[in-house]
Amino acid sequence: MAGEPQADCLFCKIVSGDVPATLVRETDTTVAFQDINPQAPTHILVIPRVHYADAGSLAAAEPQIAADVLREAAEVAAQEKADATGYRIVFNTGAGAGQTVFHAHAHVLGGRGLNWPPG
Ligand code: 5GP
Ligand code: ZN
Repeated sequence: MAGEPQADCLFCKIVSGDVPATLVRETDTTVAFQDINPQAPTHILVIPRVHYADAGSLAAAEPQIAADVLREAAEVAAQEKADATGYRIVFNTGAGAGQTVFHAHAHVLGGRGLNWPPG
């Protein structure tokens, strides 16, 4: 069923606690944790508890939860004190754009200058 946990999904396993992660915030609908390979001083992933392959699929099926992910991204940036200097929310979508985990997730990047456009 749409949104149900997937047995082969790494981020579903982080949601269930089967794979450990350094959690920074949790809500009824979202989990935020440190990226294992940080690309900036602040690099947090915010994911919905429900499984959708990417941000667009999540927004189409569960618009309120997609909004929760965005709100939590901003909360994480504030908690990590990355909001004053600016931060970036990234949803890589598709392998060609660098998506490697096909469970929707927001990267929250900050704590250093961020170039535009990204590579
Ligand atoms: P993507 O490339 O799909 O946009 O982002 C996936 C992110 O998940 C990458 O930044 C990668 O470093 C992170 N990641 C992959 N495996 C793990 C893991 O086991 N634990 C954590 N905390 N992050 C992971
Ligand atoms: Zn999943």
